[in-house]
Amino acid sequence: MTEDHYGFATRAIHVGQDPDPTTGSVIVPIHATSTFAQDGVGGLRGGFEYSRTGNPTRAALEECLAALEGARHGRAFASGMAATDTALRTMLRPGDHVIIPNDAYGGTFRLLDKVMAHWGIEYTPVALADVDAVRAAVRPNTRLVWVETPTNPLLHIADIALLAELAHSVDARLLVDNTFASPYLQSPLELGADVVLHSTTKYIGGHSDVIGGALVTSDDELNAAFGFLQNAAGAVPGPFDAWLTLRGIKTLEVRMEKHSDNTEKVTEALLHHPKVTKVFYPGLPEHPGHEVATKQMRRYGGMVSFTVEGGVDAALRVCSRTRLFTLAESLGGVESLIEHPGRMTHLSTAGSPLQVPGDLVRLSVGIESADDLIADLVAALD
Ligand SMILES: *Cc1c(COP(=O)(O)O)cnc(C)c1O
Repeated sequence: MTEDHYGFATRAIHVGQDPDPTTGSVIVPIHATSTFAQDGVGGLRGGFEYSRTGNPTRAALEECLAALEGARHGRAFASGMAATDTALRTMLRPGDHVIIPNDAYGGTFRLLDKVMAHWGIEYTPVALADVDAVRAAVRPNTRLVWVETPTNPLLHIADIALLAELAHSVDARLLVDNTFASPYLQSPLELGADVVLHSTTKYIGGHSDVIGGALVTSDDELNAAFGFLQNAAGAVPGPFDAWLTLRGIKTLEVRMEKHSDNTEKVTEALLHHPKVTKVFYPGLPEHPGHEVATKQMRRYGGMVSFTVEGGVDAALRVCSRTRLFTLAESLGGVESLIEHPGRMTHLSTAGSPLQVPGDLVRLSVGIESADDLIADLVAALD
């Protein structure tokens, strides 16, 4: 099923997932095989010859991922970082320059700073919410603008349509890491982006039980180049990982609605708590990116950060006192997580201009009962 007039939830449940023609299996089987029998040399039965190159379970996931972003092509990878590596090495050549968010995902920054730099790729971190700053950072060799919105952990918002226009005017491409929003809340390709990247480990998988990544595009040439490197370098997900991710996708719409409902309620409770000094959530009218977020997102998602009275110690205390919010890195699962960015996910930014406030706490709000989540946070804060 490829009809693109279907609504989001229908595409999530059906695209790439027709019942198995030979057995009637309603669910896409886990094709745990490395190779495929041929009827005479080159006589492929279903188009598959070797599972690094292609596997039916992965193909189902890839078709579905494309449909979720309203795109022609999807490619699944072993992790978000494998997708990032493939995107960078496909879209950039030695001597090229890429603009990245000044609060880019740490792994993306590390790959550019510690690996790609040795291969002659230059990068400039910029606050992407400031389009003039992005324009000022463009060099003659800028070939790619790498966008995250909302960002981690301060939930900054970048205007995808404006940045796409700017990138294209200087002969660069625009990629959006859409991990934080998920394809349900934000459709970057419709706003002019050339490529969407996901860590499917987060909201797309949604159950904190599998690592994966994706590249999605409607550009045939780029897709072919992604596919070439996907096969040449081989950072592919196994069939069980592809199946788990596909299983997660089926409920993406209902999960994102509940994540957004719960986060709005949690945000409201945080705003009213005397020990909370500031709340960072794009759904709040006073958030500097609120207007742009309202324009380009369906809702505001499940990530919220806040600062507490009493500095680092108070923030660490809150993180260690919740019971329902599990103290852990990562995000996007059905269960709520809490973390201290300064000492955990963003430790590597300490002492740099990208350092995050020490009194900052980040929540990935899950889909439990909102009242229980609020009571848990209030008890930890009191
Ligand atoms: C987690 C994450 C990644 C990396 O994905 P992995 O699946 O952990 O390799 C990239 N970008 C963002 C925004 C992320 O949150």
